[in-house]
Amino acid sequence: RTLEVDLGDRSYPIYIGGDLLEQAGAYFERHGLTKKSPVLIVTDTNVAPLHLQKVEVSLESSGYRTVHHIVEAGEPSKSLAVFEEVMTTAIESGLDRKSSVVALGGGVVGDLAGFVAASYMRGVNFIQMPTTILAHDSSVGGKVAVNHRLAKNMIGAFYQPEMVLYDVSSLQTLPDREVRAGLSEMVKHGLIWDQQFADWCGDHAGKLLSLNPEALEYGLIQGCGVKAKVVAADEREQGLRAILNLGHTLGHAIEATGGYGEYLHGEAISIGMAAAALIAVHRGREAAIYERTVELLQGFGLPTAMPVHLDEDQLISAMMHDKKFTENKIVFVLPVQIGKVEIVSDVTLDEVRRVIGEL
Ligand code: NAD
Ligand code: ZN
Repeated sequence: RTLEVDLGDRSYPIYIGGDLLEQAGAYFERHGLTKKSPVLIVTDTNVAPLHLQKVEVSLESSGYRTVHHIVEAGEPSKSLAVFEEVMTTAIESGLDRKSSVVALGGGVVGDLAGFVAASYMRGVNFIQMPTTILAHDSSVGGKVAVNHRLAKNMIGAFYQPEMVLYDVSSLQTLPDREVRAGLSEMVKHGLIWDQQFADWCGDHAGKLLSLNPEALEYGLIQGCGVKAKVVAADEREQGLRAILNLGHTLGHAIEATGGYGEYLHGEAISIGMAAAALIAVHRGREAAIYERTVELLQGFGLPTAMPVHLDEDQLISAMMHDKKFTENKIVFVLPVQIGKVEIVSDVTLDEVRRVIGEL
């Protein structure tokens, strides 16, 4: 399956299917990528032993020269220090303007390698090979970044890939918890844009959780499709793109106060999506919106209740850190119905405290 991400002035394809990593060389040729310049594959310590060789063998047998850089798995690798190390590898390996940088891994590797691709000699070809379900979100939209000690994703760029090669077979090795967390963003894409897709996710939770290839392919195509449509309408985050933040306002606060590691991103935003639905119901929307949201998320074994040990004041102050907070009013993405959301800018602290108490 192929999905074309159309950004108006340019477009790029997302190929989704089984055993695509083994065909990397053929896809490179199809895209006319030169064999004269070395290809840098960036991956992490978990993904490298599982999937790196397939990509290298395929590219090398098509006549590409590859080098790789393996970073420590985990969020701390999205740093300027690691960015510089990858740059060193790129320079030492003689990458030139026609070279490609491949991100083989989840969102961490995608964001890091993407920023390398955007920066090296002011920009070289960027190829995404996502190996997590969550990366269906991060591989579409062109946001690449590393973290600053003081704030996440602070140093980065908008940089679109040449293509995304999404090998669903590579997802079979994902830990169960990462599967659930990734599916949380898939459900989000249904909730913000497409009721039918949200219902489909609910009906196929079992198949998705057991990594059924057909279900994964369909779900990832639809999820990427929603993200692509929203991004195409608003590439530089002027307005509409904010709907992608459903569940993220509170989700980020939970991640921040729970300490990293306790909640995966997808788990935190699951609670955040339940909270957003409850705020909407308090504001007069049908109770069924909240009930259905919770039912969908729980179908994936995702949390929808506030962790009791998290301190309410700490959560609120973590949200206050959010740039969208002005005069005790906060911008929230709230459901209007399943499959449709609105951006409201006047949610009060009291409303947030109320759902934290009730959830
Ligand atoms: P991740 O890259 O850390 O991957 C999660 C874990 O799974 C890691 O331990 C990784 O080593 C392991 N892993 C990856 N693929 C595997 C496989 N096939 N088999 C076994 N293990 C595998 O995290 P993620 O959840 O993919 O992405 C989170 C990151 O994405 C965050 O840094 C977030 O900021 C970023 N993100 C970016 C965007 C964007 O628009 N650019 C959007 C959403 C998230
Ligand atoms: Zn997210």
